[in-house]
Amino acid sequence: MKAAEMKLDGNAIGGLLIEIFGTDLTGSMGVCASCGAQGQVATLDVYVHAPGIVARCRSCEAVMIRIVRSETRTWLDLSGTRTIQIDER
Ligand SMILES: [Zn+2]
Repeated sequence: MKAAEMKLDGNAIGGLLIEIFGTDLTGSMGVCASCGAQGQVATLDVYVHAPGIVARCRSCEAVMIRIVRSETRTWLDLSGTRTIQIDER
């Protein structure tokens, strides 16, 4: 399978993020820690066979979100994300 065929967008992890954070983050603005680009989580490039799941900045391709799940735990790496703005609703 070609890499391009495995590339999804942030909506692909919308349900997973709701499970982890308890709210829908796909419309939230994230800031890349690497290049400072701002964009909605839905616009990130998502690879679900990474290993684990990674969401990359569309500007510089740095990994902003990495999620690895086992049956008993979820491991969340947000070191590539400077901020995520979660709007009250
Ligand atoms: Zn970036």
